[in-house]
Amino acid sequence: MTTPALAPSPAPANDRSPLAERIVDTLIHRIGKDERAARKHDWLEATILTLRDEIIDKWMASTRAAHAAQAKRVYYLSLEFLIGRLLRDALSNLGRNNEVGRALASLGIDLVEIEEIEPDAALGNGGLGRLAACFMESLATLDLPAYGYGIRYVNGMFRQRLDDGWQVELPENWLSHGNPWEFERRESAYFIGFGGEVTGNDTGIVHWKPAEAIEAIAYDTPVVGWRGKRVNTLRLWSARAFDPIHLDAFNAGDHIGALAGQARAESLVRVLYPNDSNASGQELRLRQEYFFSSASIQDIVRRHVQYFGDVRTLADKAAIQLNDTHPAVSVAELMRLLIDQHDLGFDEAWEVTRKTFGYTNHTLLPEALESWPLPLFERLLPRHMQLVYAINAKVLRQARKAPGVDDAAISAISLIDEGGERRVRMANLAFVGSHSVNGVAALHTDLMKQTVFADLHRLYPDRINNKTNGITPRRWLMECNPRLTALIRDAIGPEFCDNTALIKGLESFADDSSFQERLAEVKRSNKVALAKYIKDSMGLRLDPDALFDVQIKRIHEYKRQLLNIIETVALYDQIRSHPERDWTPRVKLFAGKAASSYHNAKLIIKLANDVARRINGDPLVGGLLKVVFIPNYNVSLAERIIPAADLSEQISTAGMEASGTGNMKFALNGALTIGTLDGANIEIKDRVGDDNIFIFGLDADEVAAKRANGYAPREVIEGSRELSQAVNAIASGVFSPDDPQRYKGLVDGLYGGDWFMVAADFDAYAAAQRRVDARWADQPAWRASAVRNVANVGWFSSDRTISEYARDIWGVM
Ligand SMILES: *Cc1c(COP(=O)(O)O)cnc(C)c1O
Repeated sequence: MTTPALAPSPAPANDRSPLAERIVDTLIHRIGKDERAARKHDWLEATILTLRDEIIDKWMASTRAAHAAQAKRVYYLSLEFLIGRLLRDALSNLGRNNEVGRALASLGIDLVEIEEIEPDAALGNGGLGRLAACFMESLATLDLPAYGYGIRYVNGMFRQRLDDGWQVELPENWLSHGNPWEFERRESAYFIGFGGEVTGNDTGIVHWKPAEAIEAIAYDTPVVGWRGKRVNTLRLWSARAFDPIHLDAFNAGDHIGALAGQARAESLVRVLYPNDSNASGQELRLRQEYFFSSASIQDIVRRHVQYFGDVRTLADKAAIQLNDTHPAVSVAELMRLLIDQHDLGFDEAWEVTRKTFGYTNHTLLPEALESWPLPLFERLLPRHMQLVYAINAKVLRQARKAPGVDDAAISAISLIDEGGERRVRMANLAFVGSHSVNGVAALHTDLMKQTVFADLHRLYPDRINNKTNGITPRRWLMECNPRLTALIRDAIGPEFCDNTALIKGLESFADDSSFQERLAEVKRSNKVALAKYIKDSMGLRLDPDALFDVQIKRIHEYKRQLLNIIETVALYDQIRSHPERDWTPRVKLFAGKAASSYHNAKLIIKLANDVARRINGDPLVGGLLKVVFIPNYNVSLAERIIPAADLSEQISTAGMEASGTGNMKFALNGALTIGTLDGANIEIKDRVGDDNIFIFGLDADEVAAKRANGYAPREVIEGSRELSQAVNAIASGVFSPDDPQRYKGLVDGLYGGDWFMVAADFDAYAAAQRRVDARWADQPAWRASAVRNVANVGWFSSDRTISEYARDIWGVM
C-alpha cells in the first residue's frame, strides 16, 4: 500500500466543484492513480493536464483565426528559452488562480505547494534566454500570431550546488517526471543532413548528398497570453536517428553499435552549453545551431507554401527574428531551400531572404562574437559554405563600388575573417542577410554603430536600429509580487494590469505618507518571506529590517561582483574599526552561476562565500552586516528574491552590458538601483530621475579613453586607503587562511591591468554606497524614491518592446 504523500482529508464528494471533479477524473483516467495513492507530483500533473485541456481550445481558435485572416506570422528563433515554471503563469494569465486554488483545497491539496514542485524549464543561461521567454508571453498578450523555435534540451542549465563555497555543477533533469505541458508532433519531422558532398556548381543544378542525417521532431508547448487572449506555440526540436536501431548489427551481436546512431542523434539535444557571453566554439554547438535552424526554416517554408502556395511571397507572410547569431546559419539555409528546392535564382532568393530576416545583436564582447573555423564549417555544411562564398562575393562587389570603402573596410565587412586561421563570421552573415539589425538598449545600439559594425553601418546606414529590452509585468510583478500588485490596484485601479504604462499614476502617491507606509509593509512582508526561505534552506538568520542589497545575475568579470565584494570587505573593515558609528544594517545577497570553464568567475563565487563565512561569524559586526550567497540562481529563485530587494546592484563596467533586464525587474518591484551608466540603466535613470537612482563611476567613453591612454591601476589602488586595505586583506589570506594564496591571481589581475576598471570605479562606488546609507536613514525619502521607481518603469514592459519590433521590423502592427 502506498502511503498518501499529503495525507489529504478530502471534502465529501458532493461539495466538490465541477473543476475539482475534472481534476480527479484526470488523475484517475490519465495518470492512473486514485486520490488516496496520489502524490504531490500526480496532483501537479493532473492540475496541469486539466488546465491544458482548456488551453487547447483557445490554442486551436488562435491558429484558426490566424489562418482565416491570412495573417503574417512572427518566428522567433532562439537557442535559449529561459521560461521557468509555467503553472502559475498559465493560471494567472487565465485568471483562474483562485478557482483552481479552491478546487484543490477541496481535495486537500495546497496549490502553492504543488506549484513549487514544478521544475524550472531552464533552457537558457541568463538574460538572452529570459528575454526570449518574456517576448513569447508578450507576443501572445498582444494577440500576434507567433512561434518560438528552439531546442528541447534534455538537460538544461546545470543545477548549482556549493561545496565549501565552491561551485559544483549537477545535471538538471527537468524532464525526469515527464513534461505535461508539451505535445510531441510525430507528423512534424524533418530530415537534417550533415557533411557529405555537393555535386554540380552554382550555375547549374546543385545536389547536396549529406553523409549523415538525423530527424528533427517537434514538441509544442502552448504559450498563454494575458487574459488568455491568445495562445501561441513554442516549438522545440528533439532529435532522432532515422534508423534508430541497426538490426543487422544487433543480430550480429553488436548491441551497442546497433544503437550508436540513436545515441549520436540524442547527443545533439542533450545539453545546453552553459556559457553566457562567451562563444562555445565546439563542433557539437555548430551542429546544434544548424539542426534547429534547418528544422525551423524547413517548417516555416513548408507552412508558407501550404497556406500561400508561392514561396516568393514568404517575406509578406513571415518575419523571422534571429536572437543573436546562434541561428545565423538560417540565412544560408533559407537560401539553400529557395535555390536548391524551390528553383529560385540566386538574386531572387537573396531578396526574399533579406526581407524575411531580422537580427538582434546582444553583445559587443569580442569573446562572444561567434565565428567558425572555415574547414569545420565546410566539412559539416559544404553546401552552405558555397552559399556563404556566393553571398560574400555579392556583398563585397557592391561594397567596392560604394564611396570611401578601402581595403580595411572590405576586410571588416567580409563574411570571412582572413586574419590568421580563416573563419566564418556569423555576425556579418546575420547582418547582411537581414533587413533590420537591432541593439537592445540605446547605448548598446550606438556602440554597435561605432565599433563591431562600423563599416557595415557605413555601407547600410538604415539597417541598425534600437529596441530597448523589456520584461513581462505578468511574471515580474503580478505573479512574483501579489502584495505589491494588490497595493497598486487599490491605489490606481486595476487598469494597469492591461496597460503597464498606467502605473505612472502611482507617482502622485510618492509623497503620501500612508501609501509609503503600506509600500514599506509590502516590502517587509516580502523580506520576511525571503528570510524564511534562507533560514529553511541555508540555516542563516537575517534581519528583515536590514537593507537588503542584492546582486543576482550570471557571474562574470564585466558584471563586477568583485567590486561589490571588495566594497563589502572595506565596509567590514570600517565597522570593525568604528563599531560605535551609526551604521546601516545591511544584508549583502548574491546569487548566480559561473560557466563551468570560467576560472575567475568560479573563484569569485568562492571569495563571496569565504567573505560571508568570516563576516557572518564575527560577533563584532553582529547585526550590522551579513553576506549570503544563495545557491542555484534560476527564474524561480529570482521571483523569490526580487520582490524582497531594497537595493539593486547593476554595476557593470560601462559599455559592456548590452542592456540588462534584471535592472528593470528590480525597479518595477520598488528597489532603488545603484549602478553605472551602462545598458538600460541609462534609460532607467532618464525615467525615474537622477534623484531616485544612485549612479556612479566612469561612463563608456571614459572607460574607452582610459583603456586607450594607458591606465595604471597600481597607482589607483595605492592612492585609496580603503581599497588597498581591502585588496591586501584578500590577497594576504585573511578570508582564506586555509589557502592564503587562493586569491593571488584575482588580485594580480587588478594590479596588472584591471580590464574591468574595478579599481578605477572603487572610490566612486563606495561613495555611492554611503549616499545609499544616507537615503535609507531618511525612510520617508527612501520610500518616496521607491514609489517613483515603480511608477516610472512601466515603459520597460516587454509589451512595449514587442510593439516596437512589430511595427518597425516585422510589419505586423
Ligand atoms: C532576468 C534574469 C537574468 C538577467 O539578469 P541581468 O541582471 O540582466 O544579467 C538572468 N537570469 C535570470 C534567471 C533572470 O531571471
